[in-house]
Formats: sequence, C-alpha cells, structure tokens
Amino acid sequence: MSEQTEASPIVKTPAQAPQDIMIVGGGPVGATLALALLHKGYDVTLLEARAQGAAHQDQRALALSYGSILILERLGLWDALKPKATAINTIHVSQRGSLGRSVLKAEEHDQPALGYVLSYGDLTAALDTALQDNAKIRLQYEAEASAIIPGADLAHVEYRQHEMAMTASAKVVVLADGGRSLGEIPGLQRETKHYGHDALVSKVVCELPHDNIAYERFTPAGPVALLPNGPRDFSLVWTGKSEEIQPLLTMEDEAFLQALHAHFGDRVGRFLKVGKRLSFPLKLSYLQTVTAPHLVVIGNAAQTMHPVAGQGFNVGMRDAWELAQILAETPLAQWGSDTMLQAYQADRKNDTRKGLMFTDFLVNVFSNDTVGLNKIRGLGLGLLDIVPIAKRRLVDKMSFGPRG
Ligand SMILES: Cc1cc2nc3c(=O)[nH]c(=O)nc-3n(C[C@H](O)[C@H](O)[C@H](O)COP(=O)(O)OP(=O)(O)OC[C@H]3O[C@@H](n4cnc5c(N)ncnc54)[C@H](O)[C@@H]3O)c2cc1C
Repeated sequence: MSEQTEASPIVKTPAQAPQDIMIVGGGPVGATLALALLHKGYDVTLLEARAQGAAHQDQRALALSYGSILILERLGLWDALKPKATAINTIHVSQRGSLGRSVLKAEEHDQPALGYVLSYGDLTAALDTALQDNAKIRLQYEAEASAIIPGADLAHVEYRQHEMAMTASAKVVVLADGGRSLGEIPGLQRETKHYGHDALVSKVVCELPHDNIAYERFTPAGPVALLPNGPRDFSLVWTGKSEEIQPLLTMEDEAFLQALHAHFGDRVGRFLKVGKRLSFPLKLSYLQTVTAPHLVVIGNAAQTMHPVAGQGFNVGMRDAWELAQILAETPLAQWGSDTMLQAYQADRKNDTRKGLMFTDFLVNVFSNDTVGLNKIRGLGLGLLDIVPIAKRRLVDKMSFGPRG
C-alpha cells in the first residue's frame, strides 16, 4: 500500500524483511566495515545519502596511520592506493617562540613510514569499487536515513530513497553517518565541547621540497600542520579562533601566503601557491555509550576529535575493523545482543577515550600563551626528542591505538 499527498511527494513502501546487518553511511568508516564483513562472507546492506561517486573528487587530505594502512592492506586495497598516497617518513613537532622540538622518524621505529596522506576522494573511490564488485552487498545510494529506532529484537531504520519513504530492520544497525545527520537517538547521550576554533584546510606549494616530512607547529592561536601531499604540495591544516580563521578564507592569495609565512615561520621557505580554502568548526564530541539495543555507532558519528594529532579518522577505521572481528566471533543468532554489544564497547572504549583525551590535552596545553608554559612545553618537546622509549610509545599509540 502506498500513499502520496500534495504537501509531501513521499511514497511509503511496505517494510522489508529483516536483514542481518545494515550500515547507515558509506563514508570511509562505514564502507570499510562493509568490505571487512563481505570478506568474511556476510550479506551487507549499506545506505548512503550521496549519489554514487559524489565523493570521489573530494580533495580533503586524510592522514592515515600505519595501523589504517594495515587495515587497507588486509582488505586488498593498499597496493592500488599506495601510488596515490604520499608517505610521511618524518614528523617534526615544534612550537613557536621556543627552541624545543621533537623529530619522529620512521626508520627509528621499524616502520616503512609513520603514515600516509591520501585524499578522501581516492579512498572512497577504492572502497566503492571494491564494494560494487561484491555480489553480497546491497548498496543503496541516495538513500538517506531519517530515524533509527533501537528495539528489543531488531533495530529499525526509516529512510528516503528516490521520493519513497522506506523502513527496514536488522539484527545490527550500524550508524556511520559521520555525525552529520542523526543527532538524537533514543538511549544515546552525546557530550560536546565546542572549541570555538575552526580548521582551515587547503593545499600549498612551498619554496623547499617536502622530503616526506610532516610538520606540526604549535602556536598560542592553535596548531598548524603541513602534511606532504603529492610530489611538491603540502596539505595545510591551520587552526585558530573562528574569528581569526574566517577572514583568511577570503583573503587575496598573496596576502594569505604572507600571513601563513608569518604564522608558520621559515622552516619550509616561502609559501608560493595556495589552492581552494575551506574551513570546518572544531569540536570534541562523543557518545557516553556507543551502543543501544541492536545498534552500534562508529567513526565520526561516535567520536569527533580536534585534528591536532590526526587521530579521529584512524580511530574510526579501527572502530570498523574491530566491529567486523567481533561480529565474526559472534554467532549470527546473537548479533545485536547485549553480550555482543558489551564486547564491542569494552574493546573500543580505551582507544576512543585515549584519543579524545590526548587530542584535548594537546589543544589545552599548547594553544595558549600562559606565562611560563612556553618554557615547560619547549622542555617537554626537547625531552621527548632525546628519550627513545617515550618516542616509541608515542609512535606505537598513534599508529595502532591501545594495541600498539
Ligand atoms: C569539511 C571537513 C574537512 C575535513 N578535513 C579533514 C582533513 O583535512 N584531514 C582529516 O584527517 N580529517 C578531516 N576531516 C575529518 C574526516 O573527514 C573524518 O574524520 C572522516 O571523514 C570520518 O569518516 P566517517 O566515515 O566516520 O564519516 P564521513 O566521512 O563523514 O562519512 C559519513 C557518510 O555518511 C553519509 N551520510 C550522512 N548522513 C546520512 C544519512 N542520514 N543516511 C545515509 N547516509 C548518510 C555521508 O554522505 C557520508 O558518505 C574533515 C571533516 C570535514 C567535515
């Protein structure tokens, strides 16, 4: 039975037969989970609000940790992606106004690279192609969920696709919408702290070659990062108070390049060229619990962090990977049960909380000019540089999370 009114062109369709698993959101995290489950032989339904291929030109630069690379390797994607990615072989951390600095090098940590920079578009294109090649996926584009309702035996999803209102149910519904759409879900409580800061992202060309070095520079206004991206370019992430960042978006290129040079310093020479500039607001946001009956929330939908240490995206990739392992270890009849959901919560809590605390700590400690703190921070960076065990722990945690 269907109905159509003049006010709403939406047509209602009958509910579909319950599925084993339904993923809402086919960004990098949702698509990684889908592919990991397909590799294990499960049938998967994936709802994605965007049109097919709509994200493939997205140039935003993701800094993939070595642990995320291992996940992509296991999914059989990395060989094709590697030529499109730029290795980070060295990370140089410094703060404006002090000599203390720390340098992390891949060769000191038995890793081929500390991480790689890859565009969001290239990653999602590779994931989408791999999903489409698998007969066990039910991939629905332009399908936008409007509500998720946890239930005693199943979770239910209401969504719209091509002017049709649909409902579907699954033993496990996974929300991976990037935190962009479904804010309020019964039983889930979100904590949010707005930093009042924005991140400006763009590509820049500098006078000196990048030599596969990523720079993280702390300033009282907020951290600024340059990530090697392509043969000559850097991806820029410039954070600061919203009222200071917003005027930078519309500034003439030449004035912007000079402002960046004044802000970042001379380590990569002059800045010669800048691409399109975008910004997004920075916040720390997380769910107190990431599960409700028959529902799991992963990726940015579960936790959004400041980009200061490049943690958020990588924690999301680990969410997807670990959830696939837990589902595979759980008999199908118990998918979505309390036991399964608690196992997932317990597995991920440590990693997520540490990521949130670490990034928040860095922002709080480094983004101010409190008298005396500058010296202590400089000393801290200097100490980190000369204590190999501290460096190793930092690199392991940033690469692999709590299992590092
Ligand atoms: C503007 C912007 C710039 C960024 N730049 C950087 C950067 O330079 N470097 C970096 O490391 N990180 C950056 N980030 C963060 C990074 O994009 C996230 O960490 C990462 O994308 C999280 O992946 P995800 O799959 O959890 O969510 P997303 O990538 O947000 O994917 C969510 C997916 O769900 C779909 N969706 C949303 N709502 C619904 C719905 N109701 N129904 C069905 N599908 C839905 C969306 O279309 C999307 O495909 C940026 C974020 C933003 C917003």
